[in-house]
Amino acid sequence: MSADCLFCKIVRGEIPAKLAYQDEDYVAFHDINPQAPTHILIIPRKHIRTLNDLEPDDAQLVGGMLLLAGRLAAERGIAAPGYRAVFNCNAGAGQSVWHVHLHLLGGRPLHWPPG
Ligand code: AMP
Ligand code: ZN
Repeated sequence: MSADCLFCKIVRGEIPAKLAYQDEDYVAFHDINPQAPTHILIIPRKHIRTLNDLEPDDAQLVGGMLLLAGRLAAERGIAAPGYRAVFNCNAGAGQSVWHVHLHLLGGRPLHWPPG
């Protein structure tokens, strides 16, 4: 846990979020500035700053984020049409919150390459 981290505050319930899912390891909530009809952020409860800070012991935790993305996509009917699951790592890729999060985006055609 990190005292000043925005997403740790959401994990602790100190900042409200529209939850999509939670369990003992993860919280998923709707992005406050959605870029697609479905835009959910999946985070581990554990505070990890960026993908660069992952340790080998985090492999199962991070793999579980991808499994959860697939489950939430299926529940929302975007698994078959298609969705995107994105980690932005560091400022050059657009990371703005320093707690690892997986963006789950879908519900509209998504172009490639991203900007
Ligand atoms: P990134 O730019 O990859 O670090 O993604 C951070 C995401 O967090 C952005 O898409 C923001 O819109 C989103 N965000 C920031 N603050 C909140 C919040 N309080 N509740 C939900 N989503 C947020
Ligand atoms: Zn955090």
